[in-house]
Amino acid sequence: MRKPLPVTPKLLLAYGVYTVLVSVHLAWALKAMEWPWVVLAGGGGWVFWTFFEYLLHRWGFHEPPGAPAAHKYDIHWDHHRVPQDPERIITSLWLSLPIAALFWGLLWLIAQGHPIMGAVYAGIGVGYLGYETLHYLMHVRPVPPFRFLRKLWRHHYLHHYKEPNRYYGVTVRWWDYVFGTA
Ligand SMILES: [Zn+2]
Ligand SMILES: [Zn+2]
Repeated sequence: MRKPLPVTPKLLLAYGVYTVLVSVHLAWALKAMEWPWVVLAGGGGWVFWTFFEYLLHRWGFHEPPGAPAAHKYDIHWDHHRVPQDPERIITSLWLSLPIAALFWGLLWLIAQGHPIMGAVYAGIGVGYLGYETLHYLMHVRPVPPFRFLRKLWRHHYLHHYKEPNRYYGVTVRWWDYVFGTA
């Protein structure tokens, strides 16, 4: 029998908070806009998320290169030290919530309260939840039998076990190809 997934309060909390945030913003957009536009704007939010994921992981946690000692005590290196520990995989709310609030504020300034921001924000939130889900599974479950997922798993394992200054993308690999870190 398969071992049950290690579900922790931190994981449930993150899922709970962001599922509510995504649902509220999605409902706002769907009430005011035709659904194809919601899908399009949400897709834009998701693409933005994938870029932010790369940006934060590379320049927030790993670079400048040659300075891993500088990160010795930070949360991301804590994850690198014991990658399988579920407590260190899921991002704490005290890190994710200020970022979520910042994005909300920026979107509000850009969209001036237009409901399209609900769709973009929901897309970013879906990207984030997808990231937590995939990253979590990458560390607590073996490589899945699907080609596409196998490539993603391998990409992240290379980052952990071979070259920590490459392979930064977790949910998509394309930014590593764009920036030459694959
Ligand atoms: Zn990892
Ligand atoms: Zn890393």
